[in-house]
Amino acid sequence: MSASTQTEPDLVDYDEVLTRYEPLIGLETHVELGTASKMFCGCATTFGAEPNTQTCPVCLGLPGSLPVANEAAIESTVRIGLALGCRIASWSRFARKNYFYPDIPKGFQTTQYDEPLCTAGHLDVEVDGETYRVEIERVHLEEDTGKNLHVGGATGRIHGADHSLIDYNRAGIPLVEIVTRPISCAGAKAPEVARAYVAELRDMVQSLGVSDVKMEQGSLRSDVNVSLAPIGSLEWGTRTETKNVNSLRSVERAVRFEMRRQAAVLDRGGRIVQETRHFHEDTGTTSPGRSKEEATDYRYFPEPDLVPVAPDEEWVAKLAASLPELPAARRARLTEEWGLSPTEMAWLVNAGALGLVADTVAAGASPSDARKWWLGELARRANDAGVELAELAVTPRQVAELAALIGAGTINDQLARQALDGVLAGEGDPAAVVESRGLAVMGESDELGAAVDEAIAGAPDVVAKVQGGKVQALGALVGAVMKTTRGKADAATVRRLLEERLLGS
Ligand SMILES: [Zn+2]
Repeated sequence: MSASTQTEPDLVDYDEVLTRYEPLIGLETHVELGTASKMFCGCATTFGAEPNTQTCPVCLGLPGSLPVANEAAIESTVRIGLALGCRIASWSRFARKNYFYPDIPKGFQTTQYDEPLCTAGHLDVEVDGETYRVEIERVHLEEDTGKNLHVGGATGRIHGADHSLIDYNRAGIPLVEIVTRPISCAGAKAPEVARAYVAELRDMVQSLGVSDVKMEQGSLRSDVNVSLAPIGSLEWGTRTETKNVNSLRSVERAVRFEMRRQAAVLDRGGRIVQETRHFHEDTGTTSPGRSKEEATDYRYFPEPDLVPVAPDEEWVAKLAASLPELPAARRARLTEEWGLSPTEMAWLVNAGALGLVADTVAAGASPSDARKWWLGELARRANDAGVELAELAVTPRQVAELAALIGAGTINDQLARQALDGVLAGEGDPAAVVESRGLAVMGESDELGAAVDEAIAGAPDVVAKVQGGKVQALGALVGAVMKTTRGKADAATVRRLLEERLLGS
């Protein structure tokens, strides 16, 4: 039976899964480092270059070529390990992982096997106010593979394709693999903990500046391991490994789906096959890939062409001392500085707005103004446009400028939204848009006086009510003036002018 026609059992309701089984999850995350050159040669690493233009005899695995390890990549890996609280090995070697596949031109991948650079760390993640400690087993350095492009099939996978093309530009790009120990403490929150871990790891790596961590471009991708054990059982179940999940949402969905699918298989007395699986973004489901029942013999052996890596203690200490403020510490500091509750901070983080708000505050806005704009008007617009907040065509500096214009009384909130329209349309900075669109609040002018007179003349019944003592009817007249001035008048000024004319006060 082919993968595409294999029928899947019904899924068990998520809540029901938890009445009978305990989930165990684990994550193996690959991070492409942002080094200028590849891991073992001088080739460039630019994303999206013309296929096979960033290659040389070393990364193509041609006979006689010799690799040289990229020092910047080793340093980046050690910094990741230090940020995760890992032990840094004083002696570490590369190894050959032998297997044949078209995207691996040498017939082996240069990786690390039993002598990784970093071991035994941890990363704390927070879900719904609870902290979960994720233990890190190892962090090692390896090279990425090339990229197969299967042409002609419906799915983009090899099944049904007419032919395949290979792009070796990615072959040899330094890749850090971060492997967790099995996570058993998450229980019902397993999908959320998996997601929160990848998010925290991404932010941490980003804060180190060693990778652009763009999940949609594959520079950070996770393999998601899931297994179930009957509650009270002493043995863990067989696990599946869903490969290359490349968004936070998909990580969460993949765990949830596998738990529901595996429970259905176990419920009807079936057994879980140890295999790799593919995640499908469109349906939120996984399907079987390669079976791992027969453990592949990779015949690992130490790479004879590379010298061992022996990080000097002093150098490691220097790197440790120069680590930047990490995301957890930064969140704690900003929560305090901005006077937020932990829940308010969690909202900012979940909305992907923390960095934007921090940059807006750094550009001079108050924390409350910055939060108001990014979580309110801008979040709405991003949502309407179906993009991330950070993708909106407005910078934190421009948002700070908008807030400053309101603070100075140049514009009001409504005019600020119109100014924002202009900024998003590429008309320039807020002050320039206010100028070019004529959005500044109207001072007390002849023009405003005329608008007030016009409103009074146009509504004699309202005027009668106001003069008869129903002062709250004034609101209708204020509204009329705001309408004729297209929101540019200051409501308090308008009210005062109306009162002067109608009540003589
Ligand atoms: Zn090369």
